[in-house]
Amino acid sequence: MSFEKLGLRTELLRAVAAKGYTTPTLVQAKAIPAVLAGHDILAGSQTGTGKTASFALPVLHRLSLDTYRQNKPRALVLTPTRELAVQVEESFRTYGKNLRIRSAVIYGGVGMGPQVGAFRRGVDLVVATPGRLLDHAGQRTVDLSRVEILILDEADRMLDMGFIRDIRKIIALLPKHRQNLMFSATYSKEIRALADSMLKQPVEVDAAPRNTTVKTITQKVYQVPSNRKRELLSTLIRDGKWQQVLVFTRTKHGANKLTQQLLNDGVSAAAIHGNKSQAARTRALSEFKSGEIRTLIATDVAARGLDIQLLPHVVNYELPHVPEDYLHRIGRTGRAGACGMALSLVCEEERKQLNDIQKLLKQTLAVEDAPSGFKKEAAAPTPAPSSRPRHQDRRPSEKKVVVEEEPARKKSFRKSGEKSSRSARW
Ligand code: AMP
Repeated sequence: MSFEKLGLRTELLRAVAAKGYTTPTLVQAKAIPAVLAGHDILAGSQTGTGKTASFALPVLHRLSLDTYRQNKPRALVLTPTRELAVQVEESFRTYGKNLRIRSAVIYGGVGMGPQVGAFRRGVDLVVATPGRLLDHAGQRTVDLSRVEILILDEADRMLDMGFIRDIRKIIALLPKHRQNLMFSATYSKEIRALADSMLKQPVEVDAAPRNTTVKTITQKVYQVPSNRKRELLSTLIRDGKWQQVLVFTRTKHGANKLTQQLLNDGVSAAAIHGNKSQAARTRALSEFKSGEIRTLIATDVAARGLDIQLLPHVVNYELPHVPEDYLHRIGRTGRAGACGMALSLVCEEERKQLNDIQKLLKQTLAVEDAPSGFKKEAAAPTPAPSSRPRHQDRRPSEKKVVVEEEPARKKSFRKSGEKSSRSARW
């Protein structure tokens, strides 16, 4: 299958070729002809599968067919986060560089003025986060009554983030007759309900089996007490000479703290989360992309949608509470067919999360031995979970000696000397 066969106009094919894409990904091969034919779409597509181009290319094609300039948005993309909005709009500009389609990206946390200016000058396409778009609609700085195509990108995440009411309010402002494209990495009852209410006889595009991970990602688990996670991470980064690693923490506080600790260890790092200003987030991301900093530490919300090509390593410093977030996290590596490594540092308190993730994946994750640089200290048993403070890793760095794996008296840790190919079966 080649891009030429999909029915896209030559201006778009030239842009695709300039990006170096030769073959459409699965979701692109399925979605592009359906969108060009005017169908609604429900796509179960994971991050990293090329889903942005699967809607951006045919939407640009359709917009370009009508050259009448009405200055009001004709296509609207809703995304859960600012970063994703920025990246999606960048993709539209990249793919649409040989066409005369005007786009704008709209998100909160920055002044309204330039966004109002863009609307006033006239745009064909808007990529927006829901809250700020509603602010504009409320102030009548944008008129959504001419939207012909609505795209919900990462719809599952938008629902997780509580945007359902905003989405419904926005839909109420759009013309009833329009094309709807909905993309979601995971399916839940709520997603189905939204799809049922919004989509008309959608073509279902299932580019990857639901709730399974992209095959090119190697997943491993390190069992490690929580108070030694930082040390293990530094060792892995240094010994493995990792140049680019995205690390997930559960909280903003945790992200800040880990960043500081890695900096103290001499590992370049920056944090990206919702409490950071947009400027700081953008700077951290660009320094990470350019290789100035090796480690980007992110919370789930902030990391959603980050597109960093060929990201080799993703680390779950703490497992997410919602198992689906594991999929979103590791989808940052192994993008568009490249190989990637997703490592999880799992302490005993996280057994339940690990079990839930393995259930979702229908797969048992391999347990890896810690690298030789990570000192196996004399066996002083880890305290029983009940006697351990909940946020043990928030205590100042402890010198207490603990074993790197759980002592034999606990079922969950294997006896030393067992092969590294064992599985995490807790
Ligand atoms: P996405 O799933 O939209 O976030 O895309 C993931 C990555 O795949 C991005 O870096 C795209 O530039 C890249 N990509 C998209 N389509 C293709 C393709 N057909 N061939 C190679 N890379 C692609």
